[in-house]
Amino acid sequence: MFSMEICECKENHGIKFRTEPYLLQGTYGTIEIFPRGRDSLNFGFCKHCDKPYLSKEKAKEIVRDVLEKRQKEKGLLTGEELRELREQTGLTVREFGALTKINYGRISAIENGYVIQSKANDQVIRMKTKEFIKRNNPARKKLKKVFAKLMQQVDTSKLFLNKIMFYVDFWNFKKTDKSITGGEYIPLQYGPCPKDYDEILQEMIDDGEITPIKGYSFNVNKEPDMSEFSKEEMETINEIISLAKHDKGQELFELSHKEKGFMETPSYE
Ligand SMILES: [Zn+2]
Repeated sequence: MFSMEICECKENHGIKFRTEPYLLQGTYGTIEIFPRGRDSLNFGFCKHCDKPYLSKEKAKEIVRDVLEKRQKEKGLLTGEELRELREQTGLTVREFGALTKINYGRISAIENGYVIQSKANDQVIRMKTKEFIKRNNPARKKLKKVFAKLMQQVDTSKLFLNKIMFYVDFWNFKKTDKSITGGEYIPLQYGPCPKDYDEILQEMIDDGEITPIKGYSFNVNKEPDMSEFSKEEMETINEIISLAKHDKGQELFELSHKEKGFMETPSYE
């Protein structure tokens, strides 16, 4: 924690200015503040006690400004940037602390400009936030629900699963001009594959939604909540499921070959 001790003398002893840096004492070290030059902070010091002649509010503001400046100089997130990042996740300071495994009091202190984070913590914060936002993207969540539904209904391998998934989106797109999940597909040799396919499945495993069996198929551990899907979307999903169940999906595969042109489109939304 950095805080500036200010002059609390009862009388006015007069002010002096200085050009040499002022050492701001913190719990874990010191920061040099340059009254002139680098920080261009023009404040005076009490001639009697030698402490900055400032109001509490002004002292706080200066500490915050200097910390922010040092963060920028070091390529670290500023307190405000950290707060914005956290707000993007929708998490409270406490929850954000749990996510990043950084004490939430510290998170709060960084946000409020009392503390400068270490480079390592800065990287952890950026990485965990990015991961969290990606993982909780509404399209990704929807995609996972469809995956769970497909795994539950169709006895399928991992490779077949991504083909059916593509067909769910494709079929709905053909009927309504909209994909169901809004997910992106990348063209691979054996057909289009949802972007981050392996990562998505791994997240589902980590979250306990599914369990891999023999490394290529999956057990669904809890009933997926399909309440956000429209009647039309559920129709599409069920149509594809029955197609996939029928003759082990042979028909679906043949259909997929006929649609080659369309399938080479990497993504649609
Ligand atoms: Zn004083």
